[in-house]
Amino acid sequence: MKTNFIQQIVESSGKPIITRFPPEPNGYLHIGHAKAICLNFGLAQKFNGKCFLRFDDTNPEKESVEYINAIQEDIKWLGFQWDGEVKYASDYFETLFELAVELIKKNLAFVDDGSIEEIRSMRGTLTEPGKESPFRTRTIDENLELFYQMREGKFNDKDKVLRAKIDMASGNMNLRDPIIYRIKKMNHPRTKNWVIYPTYDFAHGQSDAIEHITHSICTLEFEDHRPLYDWFVENLTLPSKPKQYEFSRLNLDYTVMSKRALLHLVENNIVNGWDDPRMPTISGMRRRGYPAKAITRMCELVGVTKKNTVTKLSFLEECVRRHLEDSPRLMAVLRPIKVIITNYKDKEETLTPLVHPQKPEFGRRNLTFTKELFIEQNDFMLKPTKGFHRLSLNGLVRLRYAYVIRCDEAVKDEEGNIVELKCTYFPETKGGKPKECGTKIKGIIHWVSCKKNTKIEARIYDRLFLNENPGKDFLKHLNPNSLEIIKDARMEKAGNIPSCQFERLGFFCKDPDSTNKNLVMNKIISLRDAYNLSK
Ligand code: ATP
Ligand code: MG
Repeated sequence: MKTNFIQQIVESSGKPIITRFPPEPNGYLHIGHAKAICLNFGLAQKFNGKCFLRFDDTNPEKESVEYINAIQEDIKWLGFQWDGEVKYASDYFETLFELAVELIKKNLAFVDDGSIEEIRSMRGTLTEPGKESPFRTRTIDENLELFYQMREGKFNDKDKVLRAKIDMASGNMNLRDPIIYRIKKMNHPRTKNWVIYPTYDFAHGQSDAIEHITHSICTLEFEDHRPLYDWFVENLTLPSKPKQYEFSRLNLDYTVMSKRALLHLVENNIVNGWDDPRMPTISGMRRRGYPAKAITRMCELVGVTKKNTVTKLSFLEECVRRHLEDSPRLMAVLRPIKVIITNYKDKEETLTPLVHPQKPEFGRRNLTFTKELFIEQNDFMLKPTKGFHRLSLNGLVRLRYAYVIRCDEAVKDEEGNIVELKCTYFPETKGGKPKECGTKIKGIIHWVSCKKNTKIEARIYDRLFLNENPGKDFLKHLNPNSLEIIKDARMEKAGNIPSCQFERLGFFCKDPDSTNKNLVMNKIISLRDAYNLSK
């Protein structure tokens, strides 16, 4: 890990540290969370400290057990393990309630009967102070009684809230008597008896204090909340005094990251679930075949600062490519056209190319060459345009690892589509030695035997958005071609290979939709960055 400013703070304190990763279980984790995970767990690892996983489950209407489970799976897949049991803010509801009572007893909190709208309308603006609530002068006893009644379910959802009593004229809006408890009569995934829930600001810092968190690290939008965080720490009797530090979020171009936006894509079937390989979620990237190490490496390279920046998606993709370099090589043909080698006897030959051209230690694979082969439709042109060095009528091309062939005839169907290519092979050119076929061969193409191959469904992905900054109007910028499904592609016979490079085509991995009858291969990424090449 590169040194960053938070690391320097930790180092200078010289004390044991405890950090936490505090997701709200209201969606799956995305690549932005990966940055927070790497930072919190990474610091604990580096300084022999601890890092807890704490679910910030204070909003029952949006939270679910599905999300709780998925989040744990994603953290583990990224290579991290939290210390001790999984923790939940809801574990502390009783303590948090007592802390709110302490505030009331200190005359630092009051029950407000105003609606959320009324309270908001009295908050003032950045240039004008807010107005004090008419309920602000309630007695301590009255407040205590009402707060207990709120807990007992005597009121309905919008009837009352509990607010901290701080300063309606504060220059910091967060200190203008913020709401710290609201009534929500609904089922919580874990606790059954509560109908009042603490707000993020009240629950978060106090949970940190209960867990003895030393460095409560969060993203920059909470910087303005820090004075409130500190106010609670100062005014409450807490087991420890945590401190909050902020860093800038990870943003990626061509990507939306808010869980609200991602949920919209899922709920409206714009993608096929949270783990759709086009999603910027950890589970989507896992399914797409991105190695976990590529993601953590990217987070490390991006670093931790307080500057708001946008990281290029192509940078993440480059990290993915690097981490896939050692994948075994295979040949596959996505859009097949048949080649018949007219002078090749109906026999079979086994060729033994390297599994990986730079890694002889990976061994060799067996590849069958037969009279009938498939090549890629776009590797043939009847009349070659300038610069086209692959197969054309009367032209020569090398079949990778095998022979040079010449196309003698392009057979067409009734509609004039080319359906078959009749070719001649040159036996003396076997295995890549550029020998007697008259002329220098410029093109090499991949192929698959018609007789010995595995049929695959190839799923080819592109960016989900066409606009660099999809923003709030993200639905307007959807890429209509972000998924192409090719049902009848072919690949050379291979054992159970979870991921590989299809030569010339890109990196691919097996999708969990695969069955015994239908092998589904996801395209992880192209061999080179097509977007940057075209610029
Ligand atoms: P979103 O705004 O994307 O819905 P969130 O902040 O509401 O995410 P939480 O579950 O509250 O999601 O986040 C858990 C932790 O991950 C928090 O500490 C948060 O600051 C951090 N985090 C969320 N998004 C990013 C991001 N893009 N970059 C870095 N850290 C992030
Ligand atoms: Mg949040």
